[in-house]
Amino acid sequence: MIKEILEKQYFNKDDVRTLLLAKGEDLKLLLDRALAVKLEKLDHYVHLRGLIELSNICRKSCLYCGVRSGNTKVVRYTITDDEVLECAQMAYKLGYGSVAIQSGERNDRAFTERITKLVKEIKKIGNGALGITLSLGEQTPEVYREWFEAGAHRYLLRIESSNEDLYYKIHPHDETHDFKKRLDCIDSLLSIGYQTGTGVMIGLPFQTIDDLADDLFFFKNKNVAMVGMGPFIPHPDTPLYEFAGEIPPAEERMNLTLKMIAVARLMMPEINMVAATANQTIDPMGREKAILAGANVIMPNLTPNKYREEYLIYPDKACVGDKPEQCSSCLGFRMKSIKHEILYNAWGDSKAFTKKTNAN
Ligand code: SAH
Repeated sequence: MIKEILEKQYFNKDDVRTLLLAKGEDLKLLLDRALAVKLEKLDHYVHLRGLIELSNICRKSCLYCGVRSGNTKVVRYTITDDEVLECAQMAYKLGYGSVAIQSGERNDRAFTERITKLVKEIKKIGNGALGITLSLGEQTPEVYREWFEAGAHRYLLRIESSNEDLYYKIHPHDETHDFKKRLDCIDSLLSIGYQTGTGVMIGLPFQTIDDLADDLFFFKNKNVAMVGMGPFIPHPDTPLYEFAGEIPPAEERMNLTLKMIAVARLMMPEINMVAATANQTIDPMGREKAILAGANVIMPNLTPNKYREEYLIYPDKACVGDKPEQCSSCLGFRMKSIKHEILYNAWGDSKAFTKKTNAN
């Protein structure tokens, strides 16, 4: 049954559902096929994005997120411009090739202008040596365009769930959390010309296999260049923690994440897909497993250590105490141990995106 499905060029929803339920030998067949397809299309290279967690100040109150505005236990911080540029210099020095700036969400002009300025400054390092990914939430098309023109070329905005009902079970239902607005943002990023990434959390309360199958078709229909998915990790200071007892245990969430990565790889062979740090938080070998299931990007953390404890979107985040140099050599070693190789000093653009752009 699984073998026949894996032979197909296109999966229907039933196929995807079957693949997401695979166990034992079938699961192994799925993961092996996804790895083979990745190696054939993208080789054994892993791309790095040095992650800068700019600020935990957020105007939103997503029910799963540890830095939601409603969490009064968090000490709010914003990294200084100099620190951001030092992080970017570090990424350049370590040969990471790209940085990713992520932050709690702010829409005020002081914030958006500051990002424009920082993007321009980062572009100057090594004469445009660093690729720039932004992950700064929902903004107006004008702001997205301004940042794009300043030099950012990739943007990550997870849809969190493509099922509107589930979306409103994990977010407040109000003006600040609007499913349609999030969809519009993804469309606007795509039309501006960003390599656009989206994704979901896996193992959320109320989430079904059907939802996850629909999420995969959503990514495919949007023709995104990048996908980021990781297991949901309940945070004790958030409203969704109430349902922590009702979600699948960590091992199951990990396996489901691997299956989602593998099926995504088979459906979209040339996209970039991240092995999220959340994987490593619930399994010490989580990132390696994600790479072996079809992921090809890792985001080592470059945030100054003194801030990291305050950017806990989920608890017990992996590598919070590591220094950038340690992290870099550890990753090189870890990738080698699974017969993969980090491609240094390259932007590592999505092949799916490059092909789409050339075709237009
Ligand atoms: N403010 C930005 C960045 C959000 S943090 C934005 O809105 O896009 C990046 C991702 O972390 C989120 O998109 C979400 O999918 C994930 N995340 C948040 N809380 C989490 C949790 N408790 N467990 C696992 N992943 C979580």
